[in-house]
Amino acid sequence: MLSQNIFLKILDKEIPARIVYEDDRCIAFHDVHPQAPVHVLIIPRKVIPTHADLKAEDIELLGHLHLVAAQLAEKLGIGDGYRLVLNCKERAGQTVPHLHFHLLGGRDLSWPPG
Ligand code: AMP
Repeated sequence: MLSQNIFLKILDKEIPARIVYEDDRCIAFHDVHPQAPVHVLIIPRKVIPTHADLKAEDIELLGHLHLVAAQLAEKLGIGDGYRLVLNCKERAGQTVPHLHFHLLGGRDLSWPPG
């Protein structure tokens, strides 16, 4: 089952996170269980539970998240190759009901994913 939206608590600074970037639309912080030498989560401030809940009004926000991901990849030293992952719903491994991108890099990443 999808757990409580712990990311809202991070957004509200109720619980700590290793924040690497934030602006008026999104925040990025290190994943607490990193799956690669660099594993950062990029989340919108707007509450969007899953990818399937996206609306036309979110198009600009999504573009912004992608741009932030590309800039963070450079800043975090993984510009030579990285993966941007979004798990949609429990069957695909989503555990937190707040849209988020995983930015992974710093090692060779195999394909296909599990
Ligand atoms: P997903 O499984 O795609 O929903 O991704 C959720 C991610 O959030 C997982 O990789 C978790 O390790 C990560 N996570 C859960 N709680 C925290 C937290 N308090 N701080 C940082 N990352 C977290």
